[in-house]
Amino acid sequence: AKSLGGNRFQPFEPSFQEKIQLRMTIERHLRKAVEREGFSLHYQPQIDTLEGRIVGFECLIRWNNPELGRVSPATFIPIAEETGLIYGIGEWALREGCRQNKKWQDEDLIRVPVAVNLSPSQFYDQKLKERIESVLAETGLDAQYLVLEITEGMTMHVQGAIAALKDLKALGVSIAIDDFGIGYSALSYLKEFPIDKLKIDQSFVRGMKDHPINASIIHSIQSMASCLGLEVITEGVETEEQVSMLGELGCRMMQGYLFGYPIEAAQVPGLARNYGRT
Ligand code: C2E
Ligand code: CA
Ligand code: CA
Ligand code: CA
Repeated sequence: AKSLGGNRFQPFEPSFQEKIQLRMTIERHLRKAVEREGFSLHYQPQIDTLEGRIVGFECLIRWNNPELGRVSPATFIPIAEETGLIYGIGEWALREGCRQNKKWQDEDLIRVPVAVNLSPSQFYDQKLKERIESVLAETGLDAQYLVLEITEGMTMHVQGAIAALKDLKALGVSIAIDDFGIGYSALSYLKEFPIDKLKIDQSFVRGMKDHPINASIIHSIQSMASCLGLEVITEGVETEEQVSMLGELGCRMMQGYLFGYPIEAAQVPGLARNYGRT
């Protein structure tokens, strides 16, 4: 929202026509980018704060278009989802993350899982298991080094979601619930669904200082997860103060700008060496 002076705020609102126009432009460029594999993956470290070492990387897609510039995944993934382009993009991201991780292992650089984000259409795809199986076979990555990140909303109210998750897990991959806590989280959900990790949504970390309720929520998620034997990763950690508050709440695994921004694959060796020394 832009301030127009005083205490009146006039949000910038593109017209309906302008929005449609922009979407169509993005869609057109996105289609070309899929053909040319015009994307890249960035990798953000996940840290065990007790041992000070990297325990995984989240793969985050990047799109730098000559005409549009850098377009955030928060903008283009929903468009890809609506237009069906997500299948090609999602499979590219999956293959690239696995290929890169296998390469790091072959180079003896680091042996940790990579987490790939799945969008709803990918998760509902009947062929998902086969696709993952063939990507693992093609890249040679052992399934234990792949985590699939899905959101709660994707599994709620979906017939057969539990069976689909069991089916995926049979491959040997792990399942993480992304943005946990902002959906319909319930103990019964966690008990019934065959998942391995919870990623506590960034909003709780951000709100921790000003609103103690956020710390209470993080604490309950953490204890609930521990009881059920689930691993927890707290997202969006930006300050040392947050690290110590989270430590007191029982959180150990963290991800956020404080530990590392999402970086290109070429920068990972330097980062890995840095963490190796601590
Ligand atoms: P997400 O999966 O919740 O990813 C975390 C987002 O938070 C990323 O934004 C990451 O760069 C950002 N982040 C990490 N640490 C911090 C921090 O300390 N502070 C703040 N403020 N932000 C932090 P990004 O890369 O822009 O991605 C946005 C969303 O786009 C992702 O949210 C995910 O939903 C989606 N996305 C990204 N890559 C893919 C992909 O390959 N496939 C699919 N389906 N979705 C993707
Ligand atoms: Ca994610
Ligand atoms: Ca998240
Ligand atoms: Ca998200």
